[in-house]
Parts: sequence; structure tokens; C-alpha cells
Amino acid sequence: MSMVKEAAFFERIVLETGALSQVAPYLRERGSRRLLLAADRNTYEAAGRDLERMLAEAGLEPALCLLAPNETGDVVADEASLIQLLLAVEPGMTEALVAVGSGTIHDIVRFAAHKSGIPFVSVPTAPSVDGFTSAGAPLIIRGTKKTVPAVPPVAIFADLRILMEAPQPLVAAGFGDMLGKMTSLFDWKFSSLTAGEPYNEQAALITERALASCVEHAREIGERTERGITVLMTALIESGIAMLLFGQSHPASGAEHHLSHYWEMEYLRRGRRALLHGAKVGVACAEISRLYHDAAERGVYPGGEPEALRQHGGQVREWLAAVPGEAAIRELLRLAGGPSSRQELGIDDELLAASLREAHLIRDRHTLLRALNEAGGR
Ligand SMILES: [Zn+2]
Repeated sequence: MSMVKEAAFFERIVLETGALSQVAPYLRERGSRRLLLAADRNTYEAAGRDLERMLAEAGLEPALCLLAPNETGDVVADEASLIQLLLAVEPGMTEALVAVGSGTIHDIVRFAAHKSGIPFVSVPTAPSVDGFTSAGAPLIIRGTKKTVPAVPPVAIFADLRILMEAPQPLVAAGFGDMLGKMTSLFDWKFSSLTAGEPYNEQAALITERALASCVEHAREIGERTERGITVLMTALIESGIAMLLFGQSHPASGAEHHLSHYWEMEYLRRGRRALLHGAKVGVACAEISRLYHDAAERGVYPGGEPEALRQHGGQVREWLAAVPGEAAIRELLRLAGGPSSRQELGIDDELLAASLREAHLIRDRHTLLRALNEAGGR
């Protein structure tokens, strides 16, 4: 499996069985002895304990920060987790941070790495999001989701053996995060055409190809075969690299992500257990696809016809023709073994309606969702 050449963003990028055993030699080589591992209870069991032992055996000094869950049992990238990790960093002593876990743990670590000026190494334990390589950290601050500048890892060690043992819902969530590119890539082109937002062909192409390979291997991903997991993890890393290349999240995040963020914040407000990011994104992608196809092809608007559609209708319809419909997206989600409807996620009619009305306010981006809502009537 060859990664795109933009892997030059990293000192080392390893996706193979046994990648975990390459972390210690790499850290020794770069002269990082005093380490701080960040994990939660599950990811410590999945990979952290083995890694800690390997590092100690290699003569390195690994300290451990076991991130605590909140009242509902979730580890969240919020003030409490950030401070817990920052308190464990020893200024002038800690030489590298190691994120062992999911996207959330990576976001906590990338923020701490950025604030402390200490590099971090990524050890994903599940192919669950495309955010491992991200430069921004989506955090929950005072109950609001906010992406703050942070740093990408200096190296990634993704061990196939560990990824293949990841819980099935996390694998399906990674697939859902990738399917979201169906609408994010459309929204990106739309925002560039109708509002002059910056666009980058190469980043778009990398993301398109990563998406296509996931769609092609949906069944193998659902069955968690070695091939399926390799394809999915490669796609997630490549999608992350496309964002690094472009410098913003446009390639990988459009209205479907804004919908997902809206649901996430509402769940926090209600004190409900968090849903997996990619599980929300996959279902949100189906909802956005329905809304967009309804508007552009059937003239069903929440308010009036947006000016952008009146002006650029031909081009927008051409692009939308390449975006699979709601039913096809749900079918792919099922094939990969994930939730395919908002009912399965517990999103009620009211929350769906509110999110479709207001989710565009979460980010300053000129998505078709925003154009539809700003055309009035809602
Ligand atoms: Zn995402």
C-alpha cells in the first residue's frame, strides 16, 4: 500500500503489522528519551501497555497519563482532559508525547503538544477518523465545539494487528467519516464557485481517490479483513494529508460535519453519551444528500430558491449528479456495518429539523446548506 508522496509531512509514517515495535527504535533514533504516553483505559489495554513495556525495554523512560472519562463515561477533548494532560507534562523534561488511541485522544495530545512545544507521535488504535494527522484540534470548550490551531504528529505508527482488533463500531465510524467526503467535496466546489472560497485541485483529488477506494472496499471494511482495514486506514491518513496540504478542513468537512457537530453539542447539553464522530457524519451525509438533491433537482427548498442556485444551477446540478443519493449512502453505511439512520443514533425529528436549520452557523463556510437557509423562509 503506497501512501501519497505528501507523506513527506512526517518524519515517519508506518502502516503495517508490527508497527508498534518500531516506535521505540524511532524515538531512540531521534533522541527522545523522556516520554509521556496519553491513553484511556481501553486504548491502554489495546496498545498502551505493550508500548510502555517496549519503550522501557529499549531504555527509554515512558510516563503514563491515563485520561479520565467524564460523568457519562466518555473521554472528551474538553477543559478537564486538556488540563489533566498538561499537568502531566514536565516542563524542560518531557521530550515527546505519544498519543495512543482514538481521534479524541489525538486531539487532546495535539493541543498539549502545541501549547508545550513538545513533538507528538501518533499511535492510532482504531481506523475511526481522518483526524489523526490533523493540524487543528476540535475541542469542546464551555460546551461549544471549537477547532483551535494545534500541531500534526511528527510520526505515525499504525499497527494493522491492533487496528484489525478495534471494535467494529469504530471501524464503521471511520468508514462513515470517509463517506462524508461525498458531500464535503461537493460543498467545497460549491463554496469556491459561489463565494470564492479557496480551492486546491490536488487536495480534492487525493480526497476523491481515498473516498473511492473505501466505497469500492465497503464490504471488506465491514468484514474487517486485512485488506479492508488497510484500505480504510490508508484513506483516513490520506484525507488528513489532503487537509494538511490545503491548510484547512474544506476537503474533508462540509455541511455533513456541521450537522454532526450540532448533534454532538446537543448531546453534551442533554448529558447524553457521546456518539462516535464518524457514525454521526455518515448519517448526516445521507440527510444532506437528500436535502441537496431535493433542492437542486426537485426544486424543494426550505425557504426560497437561493441566488447561488439561480445563478449557477447548471454547474451545481452537474456536480450533484455525482453525489450518491440518500438511499445509496445508507446502503453503503449498512454494508460497512454501521448505523445508517438517525433513528439508530437517537436523533429525534426536532433535533434533525433544528440542525438542518442552524448547523451552517457553526462554521463560516459557504455550503449549499447555508445558501438554502439564507434564502429565507426558515
Ligand atoms: Zn470527520
